[in-house]
Parts: sequence; structure tokens; C-alpha cells
Amino acid sequence: MERLAALRQQLQTEEREAILISNPINVRYLSGFTGTAGTLLITEKEAALLTDFRYLEQAAQQAPAYEIVDIAGDTWKQVANILTDTGCKMLAVEADHLTVDIYEKINDALDGITVQPIISPVAQLRAVKSTAEIAAIEAAQKITDEAFTQILPFIKPGIREREIALELEFIMRKKGASGLSFTMIVGSGSRSALPHGVASDKVVAEGDAIVLDFGCIVNGYCSDMTRTVFVGKASDKQRRIYNLVLQAQQAALAGLRAGMNGREGDALARDVLVAAGLGEYFGHGLGHGVGLEIHEAPRLSISSENTLQPKMIVTVEPGVYLPGEFGVRIEDMVVIEEDGIRNLTASTKELICL
Ligand code: ZN
Ligand code: ZN
Repeated sequence: MERLAALRQQLQTEEREAILISNPINVRYLSGFTGTAGTLLITEKEAALLTDFRYLEQAAQQAPAYEIVDIAGDTWKQVANILTDTGCKMLAVEADHLTVDIYEKINDALDGITVQPIISPVAQLRAVKSTAEIAAIEAAQKITDEAFTQILPFIKPGIREREIALELEFIMRKKGASGLSFTMIVGSGSRSALPHGVASDKVVAEGDAIVLDFGCIVNGYCSDMTRTVFVGKASDKQRRIYNLVLQAQQAALAGLRAGMNGREGDALARDVLVAAGLGEYFGHGLGHGVGLEIHEAPRLSISSENTLQPKMIVTVEPGVYLPGEFGVRIEDMVVIEEDGIRNLTASTKELICL
């Protein structure tokens, strides 16, 4: 299994004897196992999936590359047994997932073995997608694009944000999505200036800007897009801000490529908004990786040193938020390529007045 081999390579480079994978998303990524209770123990030669009675059969089917170990009531005792058998003296654990409580339990159970909390190396592996992963994300985005087209006639004065969110979810689920990739953002009027304003009871009114930020899950993989639309007629100010955000996004889409770091990517859009005097109203990063999780590596932000590589998938989502007035965000999802990007988002970015 390629992913297991890549992780072992990484462990070897860092001179680590064994690693315990407890984050369920990483367990799924490395083994294929989708159950809610599973832990991986990986050494140079061993690959064990420790789970309980409920999942033994499912684990054997989904994770053929792993030896399935019944925890028989005590995961850490089983881990200790395997490590003793293999002669390992050190065990790395995922510091960015494990609770302090579990960390202490592992420490107590592993006599004579040094427990090393490290930032999980799996996040870096997950950042670069396989062809099958890209296909799943594209399938999720296709549903998301279709849902955007279908929701437009539904949006009119008098409707509540919550109703729009519910209808969008219904459309996406009917098209085969297994769920939402995150709690949907539907922010209208002054609520559109809340970067993460989840759908509320607010009634949509004439003249509102509406930020719709949503995505769905297909085969475990997420999609993510944002469009901002206007109800009735957009004011001159709304049009001006919309066009500047779009210009910032287009500058980033034209400039992003492999080899850049996250900070340089972020600057492509930020420079446009700063030049227009709107820098202080763009208070978040330009984008994030998307995969099994809605937010994952790499990051595009003023502090990100992540290097962009071919087959990474990131969002490009500049926004301007004017408190008490309105906000505009436009978000596409793209695949990084050697000399540019491939945009996975097909929805129009023409200014829409409903
Ligand atoms: Zn989004
Ligand atoms: Zn996003």
C-alpha cells in the first residue's frame, strides 16, 4: 500500500521506530477503515489495526494490508504487547490529536518505552492527492455547482436564511451527497459581513447581499465553494466591492502555481485588496487545503510557509467584510499544477441580482 510505504519512509527519515495513529481521519486515509473505533500501530515491519469486537469483520474487509488485532478491552495493553514483541523502544503519537488523558494512559501502559508526541506526519501526506481523491472531490464539487444553479430561483425577499440552507442540503443529498462538508453559511444583509455566519432565522430583504458558503461529501471527500448574490438591485458600493473581490480572486487564480509558498499565494489576492484600501477588511487567509476534511494542509495565509505542490487541492477565497453593512466572498476550489491551476468550480462569477 502506497500510503503506508510513504509514511514508513517519513518515519525512517525522522529516525522513529514506531507510530500510533489515533486520529480517525488518518486511520481511514492510511488503512481504508471507516469505523469509529480504530487505532493503527505502524513499525518498520508491522502494520496493525486495533479495534473492538464490533468492527473485527469490517476492519478485515476494509484494511487488508493490516493485521487486525482485537483490543479485548484494553488497547494500550495490546500496543505494549506488539511493541515488546518487535523490540521497539520508542513510540511516536499524534500530539495534534491525542488528549492529555489518553497520552497519560499510554505512558502508564508502556513500561520502558519512550512516548514521543509529534505533529502527525500524515497531514503532509494527505495534502497531495491521488487521481482517485481528485475525482471524488470533483464529483462533490459538481453536485455543489448544480445545487447553486438550482437554488437561485428559490431565493427571494421573505424567505429565511435557514430555508435556503435546508433546500441546498436537500438538493445536494438528492444528487447523491452523503452529507454536508461543514455547517452551511448563509448570511444575508448585514449578516453577510460575518465571515462565518451560519444560516439563521433572518428573513431575506430587498437590497441584501447574501453570502452562500457550502459544500458536500462524496466518497468521504469534501467540496467547498462560496458565491455572493444580491437580492433586487445591487448598490454602487456593493458592485464596487464585488468587482474588487473578484479581481483579487482572479489575480490569485492567474498566479498560483507549484513551488510557491502559502504566503506568496495569499499575497496574490491580498495585494489587490490592500491597493484598493480594503486590506483591513480581508481578515482571514486566502485559502486552505480540502480533502477528507474541509480544512487541511496546505494553508494560504500571511503566515503560511507550506510549499504548494502539484496535485494539492486548495480553495481561493478572498473576502471583504464591512461590519454593519455587507460582505462579499468568492471561493473556488482548484488543483495546483506545475505551471498554474485547474479550477474545479464551474459556477458563474458574474454579479447576480435576483
Ligand atoms: Zn467555503
Ligand atoms: Zn473554504
